Amino acid sequence: NPVLHIDNVKKSYRNGKVVNPVLKGISFDINPHEVVALLGPSGSGKSTLMKCVNLLEHVDDGQIWLNGTDITDPRVNADNSRARIGVVFQQFNLFPHMSVLKNVTLGAIKVHHWPKDKAEAKAHELLRRIGMNEKTKAYPDQLSGGQQQRVAICRALMTDPELLLLDEITSALDPMLVGEVLDMVTELKERGTTILMATHEMEFAHHAADRIVLLQKGVITENGTPQEVMEES
Ligand code: ADP
Ligand code: ADP
Repeated sequence: NPVLHIDNVKKSYRNGKVVNPVLKGISFDINPHEVVALLGPSGSGKSTLMKCVNLLEHVDDGQIWLNGTDITDPRVNADNSRARIGVVFQQFNLFPHMSVLKNVTLGAIKVHHWPKDKAEAKAHELLRRIGMNEKTKAYPDQLSGGQQQRVAICRALMTDPELLLLDEITSALDPMLVGEVLDMVTELKERGTTILMATHEMEFAHHAADRIVLLQKGVITENGTPQEVMEES
């Protein structure tokens, strides 16, 4: 069974009487341990789709199933659903006035009510894996942008989410720092993490993704292995 099953999702933004259809019936699945790259030109609806999956936006029509739960059903508790999905955005992922350790543990403690020592043990384990256990007391502005994004990924992994959403996580980075963040994504893939990643990194998508979903003007125009999608275009 798929981890994520997106079934005919539609979403429009309204501005007064003007209706702007952004997602025009999106359907695709993500299977366990798959890394799916969501590609598409700016304005095609990638961010909107990511927000619908993370329940930051309501869908107008269609369903999004997470391991058999229709998370778009209003009777399903949205906080519970969000806890099952890890999210990293393009920027502003870390609180500047909090240490790395505090940033990584905050959600687990405050939102998911973990005891502090359990949260800190898990945070240390995740940070150690990326060689950042020396930086637990540092503040975000003492880290490179690449290190900050890797810390943000650690935070998203605290609760062992069923799905990790990565929304343009390298787009705001100095090009020199993109590689270390993509290497971390590759490492997660090797560990079996299921990932939906909106990205402009074509090179990475073609080499590291299991599948490419191409979104154009709110419609999926390609859905296949990198090889299949390359042959089509
Ligand atoms: P992408 O991530 O592919 O660049 P977006 O999902 O950000 O695309 O945007 C798709 C379309 O939706 C664009 O036309 C954008 O202007 C519009 N849009 C996005 N967010 C909003 C919003 N909150 N209100 C109104 N229109 C929006
Ligand atoms: P499709 O629309 O592609 O034919 P289905 O709607 O039959 O696919 O469902 C595919 C997957 O979506 C299922 O394996 C399950 O994870 C989820 N799903 C769909 N409908 C239900 C349901 N009523 N109850 C639980 N899970 C469902």
